[in-house]
Amino acid sequence: MEIVTLENDLLRQKSEPVKDIDGEIQKTAEEMIEALHEGKGVGLAGPQVGLLKRIFVVHIEGDAPRVFINPSIIGTSQETIKYEEGCLSIPGVWADVIRPKSVRVQAWNEKGRPFNMEADGILARVILHEYDHLEGVLFIDRLSVPKRNRVLAKIEKRQKA
Ligand SMILES: [Zn+2]
Repeated sequence: MEIVTLENDLLRQKSEPVKDIDGEIQKTAEEMIEALHEGKGVGLAGPQVGLLKRIFVVHIEGDAPRVFINPSIIGTSQETIKYEEGCLSIPGVWADVIRPKSVRVQAWNEKGRPFNMEADGILARVILHEYDHLEGVLFIDRLSVPKRNRVLAKIEKRQKA
């Protein structure tokens, strides 16, 4: 699987629900986990591999890989936290992003089993970042305007180089 980058308009589109959780989507999830490992990332969403489907995978240190299909964010904490984020689709760019400290999410796993979980710390961070991808939102959109402009200028400079 190839990971698409910022120039690709797919990253700006809203993903469609997965209709059937079948062998095909299971295979997709496996391939996404492989691509995530190859890219040495912690999360990867459908649009990042050219698939406008509501699926993302998360694998943080000390945890097993997790697959989220048709996820819903049920609630987020009022408390927010600032943490440095990057994105496999925006290589080499890191910036502090403010997000809720914890999140409650409902989704289906690759076996078609529904689950509901509360996540905190890095896991909450990655879930919120990946969920944004399904809505066509990137972490750079969540930066202040001056900060985003600096980041975009950096990306542009690199593309010209
Ligand atoms: Zn990302």
